[in-house]
Amino acid sequence: MKKVMNFVHGTWQASAATEYLAVVNPATAETLASVPLSSASEVAAAAEAAHEAFQSWRRVPAPTRIQSLFKMKALLEENFEEIARTITLECGKTIGESRGEMRRAIENVEVACGIPTMMMGDFSEDIASGIDSMMIRQPLGVCAIIAPFNFPGMIPFWFLPYAIATGNTVIVKPSEKVPMTMVKVFELLEQCDLPSGVVNMVNGSKGAVDAILDHPLIKAISFVGSTAVAKQIYARASANGKRVQAQGGAKNPIIILPDADMAMTTQITADSAFGCAGQRCLAASVAITVGEARHTYTEAIADAAVSRVVGFGLDEGVQMGPVISVPSRERIESLIQQGANEGATVVVDGRSPQISGYENGNFVRPTILSNVNPKGNIAHTEIFGPVLSLMHVNSIDEAIQLVNGGQYGNMACLFTSSGSAARKFRSEVDAGNVGINIGVAAPMAFFPFSGWKESFFGTLHGQGHHAVEFFTQTKVVVERWPKTWSRQF
Ligand code: NAD
Repeated sequence: MKKVMNFVHGTWQASAATEYLAVVNPATAETLASVPLSSASEVAAAAEAAHEAFQSWRRVPAPTRIQSLFKMKALLEENFEEIARTITLECGKTIGESRGEMRRAIENVEVACGIPTMMMGDFSEDIASGIDSMMIRQPLGVCAIIAPFNFPGMIPFWFLPYAIATGNTVIVKPSEKVPMTMVKVFELLEQCDLPSGVVNMVNGSKGAVDAILDHPLIKAISFVGSTAVAKQIYARASANGKRVQAQGGAKNPIIILPDADMAMTTQITADSAFGCAGQRCLAASVAITVGEARHTYTEAIADAAVSRVVGFGLDEGVQMGPVISVPSRERIESLIQQGANEGATVVVDGRSPQISGYENGNFVRPTILSNVNPKGNIAHTEIFGPVLSLMHVNSIDEAIQLVNGGQYGNMACLFTSSGSAARKFRSEVDAGNVGINIGVAAPMAFFPFSGWKESFFGTLHGQGHHAVEFFTQTKVVVERWPKTWSRQF
């Protein structure tokens, strides 16, 4: 059985962990590897290696540091298919979705290649007589990245390229469910001329995370995962004096007005709700129809749910893979039942499907619940599976009110052909990522990934300028150089 290794101080190291977990292909139930639950002392060794590397890495000029990112970009492109395949094997999404994920990862490397410009400071001459002032950006030190299971290739890249390009060193803690993708990535990072200790990887779960949150040499935490854990991470790391950005869960609403292009809306909202088997923090989870949109949309989305091709993500023509684990499948199925118990109609029921050839996989087919009670539990619980809940209102104002009543604020989308409705929605909706006739409003790498409310804890988000600000601290210098002190020329 292949054991996943840690990468510390430029070398692959077998963990001394006594406990290992199985890494399982969710479509076939085949065990692919085992992953160690590394201890606090292994985290400490990585923190010390990263701290030592920081002393010289921070002094390497930014234009030299980004040469490693150009290499990284080239190597990720060369090994694109192999990494995408690994994502599909351990995470379950289709190969097309895995390719899309890696494309988004690479975009972040490309954007971080602009660090020499992005981390430039400010200078003001003569702020007082004979006095000048400047603001410079300096790196923080050792930064840790704690990732969720659903985008094993992309999410560490919301942070890693910016952290190292700005002169920090990094420890990545991948999700214990999908650690193999980052192993492939680190095999490439090894070839990027980064000094030993600049990038490190420690595998594990809560124990390793707690050790990261408590270690005094670790100065910043970038976390992505569920809201319950994000809150704990934010509280504990902040109490320890660290800078924290913690992205949490979601329950993303989409509003469909009667004037929407129904064919396009159906296709892209089905992709949003059922793509990645609904295991996307930007998956549409609640569709709110307004007025006459109700009947046409319900019929069309039910057809789209029924006709979606579900199977193993490496097989030709498959549009949706399994969910990550057996407990996950059981949780999704019980939430569907809870929705029905709360009065919803199960229009399309995806529970317990038979997927020929993959009888042991964790499959749930696309599911549609209609007449979902807006005050019920199911309307507010993140299902994180291929389940779309339908609600109905009579006006856009009512719809926006319903959206803004939710506790999450990761994404909200509107489907319409009316510019003024779009403008009103964009302005009034309480969500950090907004889509107009877009099903998955994922910001490109040069924009921040802007979750709000219970979907984000912190101030600066991942990606783009926010990442540059997060990974640097500002220093303001005020200078006086009296003429009498210098030789006159
Ligand atoms: P999770 O919260 O279970 O795990 C995330 C990370 O935290 C993993 O590395 C895990 O090892 C660690 N962890 C788990 N429990 C912990 C604990 N009690 N203490 C310390 N560390 C702990 O999340 P997941 O199931 O891997 O991912 C799915 C969740 O992530 C969903 O809620 C989804 O919405 C969210 N997500 C959010 C975004 C976003 O940008 N907002 C993006 C992707 C996923």
